[in-house]
Amino acid sequence: MALWKSKLPNVGTTIFTEMSAKAHEFGALNMSQGFPDFNPPRALREMVYQAMMDGHNQYAPMPGNLKLREWIATDVKRRTQHECSPISEITIGAGASSLIFAAIQTLVHSGDEVIVLAPCYDLYEPAVRLAGGGLRVVPLKQDDFHLDLDALGKALSRKTRLIIVNIPNNPTGATWTMDELDDLAALLSDSNALILSDEVYGPMHYDRKPALSILHQHELRERSIVTASFGKILHATGWKIGYLIAPMHWTQEIRKVHQYDVFSTGAPFQEGIARFLASSDGETHLEGLAGFYQEKRDRLLAGLTGSSWSFTPAEAGYFQVLDYSSFDDRDDREVTHNWCAQSKGQGIALIPLSPFYPATDAEQKKPRQVRVCFAKNDTTLDEGIERLLQVPQMK
Ligand code: PMP
Ligand code: GLN
Repeated sequence: MALWKSKLPNVGTTIFTEMSAKAHEFGALNMSQGFPDFNPPRALREMVYQAMMDGHNQYAPMPGNLKLREWIATDVKRRTQHECSPISEITIGAGASSLIFAAIQTLVHSGDEVIVLAPCYDLYEPAVRLAGGGLRVVPLKQDDFHLDLDALGKALSRKTRLIIVNIPNNPTGATWTMDELDDLAALLSDSNALILSDEVYGPMHYDRKPALSILHQHELRERSIVTASFGKILHATGWKIGYLIAPMHWTQEIRKVHQYDVFSTGAPFQEGIARFLASSDGETHLEGLAGFYQEKRDRLLAGLTGSSWSFTPAEAGYFQVLDYSSFDDRDDREVTHNWCAQSKGQGIALIPLSPFYPATDAEQKKPRQVRVCFAKNDTTLDEGIERLLQVPQMK
């Protein structure tokens, strides 16, 4: 064992697993890991059940259920006007995670550089490291978590293979504007860098903000790989069905990894989802999604308005960042553990922001911020507000 060297020496258990386990251990209200505490629509559950009863129980095709890929292509065209082929440009995998991972292993060679915009989702860094790539961390703007174009321009080099963006961002809830997408296109016009755009919370945009995808920017389409997840938009994170859209050449390469990694996933889920999305129930569900989550965000923020928490309302997604610097100076990991372990099951589990800042050459960030998941029933949200208002004031 002494000669054996870990490939990921600095990686422990993810903060999401850690905080959900702590919530369970202390009987705390769990608003940490990102999942709803309500079920997917009944019609969808029935259609998945029916798909099983109809015999969709063996391997789905390696690229995914064709009906579902056709729905994705139609949806992409409707949302962005981009035409993509369900045959050669769409692949279904075990959640967006498996495809993000496959894409990074496929595209990044040893010595390539990958740019991430921090704070960012925790999966990117270890995937880049396993591929032998080097990470360049570009901070998002401090005030609104939007793109810092100058900083990105400075980090860009001939070695840059991939830029990973997350529209909208987990944890910050910030999204992109069309001007920012245009700026990115202009910045990259002479570069060979590809873009991996992680869009798992895609349609959930609030206050009438357009639900932009990287595919809305025509010049970026050729160099962009997009990932998305049915887990988020159908309230079914446990089903782990996600998809990837990429130009044919990149799809062919990414499928070489996907076919030996995940290969094929959840046949009855794929079939049931395809049936649901083609139905009027599916249409109604998607049409109502942004409004449904906006109400939840607003309920949470109304409950905290006037308190010692400070925040900028999330523009999209299902997370809200809350700042506690006005009443506590302690480190974000320490406070989240402390608040989770409050006596007699009165605690609340939240996610500290620091795990979203990759260690590599980033400034040592000491956020006094936590992330709360508002994909919860109103009773959970109300209980969450109560507990957030009761955390100890240390100043
Ligand atoms: N990207 C982001 C930004 C996420 O928040 C998550 C987790 N929900 C994923 C990817 C992974 O999605 P999935 O559960 O479909 O693998
Ligand atoms: N994406 C989810 C979150 O941000 C967690 C998924 C996971 O636990 N890996 O909370």
